[in-house]
Amino acid sequence: MTAPLFERIALLGIGLIGSSLALAINRKDLAGHIAIYTRRKETLKRATELELGDSYHSEVADAVTGADLAIFCAPLGANTALAQACAPALAKGAIVSDVGSCKRSVIDDVAPHLPNHVSLVPAHPVAGTEHSGPDAGFAELFDGRWCILTPETGTDQTAVDKVSNLWQQVGSNVEIMDADHHDQVLAITSHLPHLIAYSIVETATDLENDLQKEVVKFSAGGFHDFTRIAASDPTMWRDVFLNNREAVLETLGRFTEDLTSLQRAIRRGDGDKLHETFTRTRSLQRSVIAAKQQA
Ligand code: NAP
Repeated sequence: MTAPLFERIALLGIGLIGSSLALAINRKDLAGHIAIYTRRKETLKRATELELGDSYHSEVADAVTGADLAIFCAPLGANTALAQACAPALAKGAIVSDVGSCKRSVIDDVAPHLPNHVSLVPAHPVAGTEHSGPDAGFAELFDGRWCILTPETGTDQTAVDKVSNLWQQVGSNVEIMDADHHDQVLAITSHLPHLIAYSIVETATDLENDLQKEVVKFSAGGFHDFTRIAASDPTMWRDVFLNNREAVLETLGRFTEDLTSLQRAIRRGDGDKLHETFTRTRSLQRSVIAAKQQA
């Protein structure tokens, strides 16, 4: 039997991502001990009932004491307080990581609070669903998906390799990227699509009652996919837009220009323009399917 990758992994937050990670870590015995912290009593109780870890804590410091890896799995807005709470209890040589959907803000919020004897290796598993909470997790969530690591230059390479190894062992392909670049890429591939979905569903919801019923009745026509995305956790997505403001606004500007150009083509009856655009986008969708990254 080989030794686990980590002696003790502390998961700070046990929603969709934290619980999936716990299950995936358990699946391959990658940790000697999983310590779970979560904020609310009910969530901690549910994590205990689901047997997601080996110990359950209502204090951050208790969970991270003796941990060689602590992973922040709460919404981005909780990171500063989590870093402040765990810093005094972190062992020498411990690694701090996270799963947040934006990466520059994680470095800005967490790094200043950590002692020098700790390495920060930010991570973003590009995998998820619209469900949240500890019941939503499943061990296969990360299988075949990308996990992007964004360590700052000068981060201890052994720490980066260990976190990279963990994500590979839970089924992911790992890519190392600069944090700002990550935020630009994710602004277009994930953040803007969510914003558009929230916005379309909001527009439909605003329509008068009769029409709204018809929206639900005929929702198979494309709208259904938007309602699924727009059912994603409001706290998580509020924090994503607050934490990746610049890249989202830049991408939104470009999107608005392209949308205006399609609007003009429709008004002018410019079928060639519409057909050319839809032909180009169709080939991109085929590449996404070939890369096996569709939701
Ligand atoms: P989730 O299912 O809503 O779970 C959130 C967890 O964080 C819960 O344990 C919750 O604890 C805790 N939490 C919430 N607010 C907190 C606060 N202010 N202080 C301390 N703990 C708090 O969320 P999730 O979907 O797993 O997302 C977690 C992280 O993963 C986010 O940073 C998100 O950006 C990232 N992520 C999400 C997805 C996705 O598709 N969902 C994909 C990739 C990355 P209580 O229930 O005890 O309050």
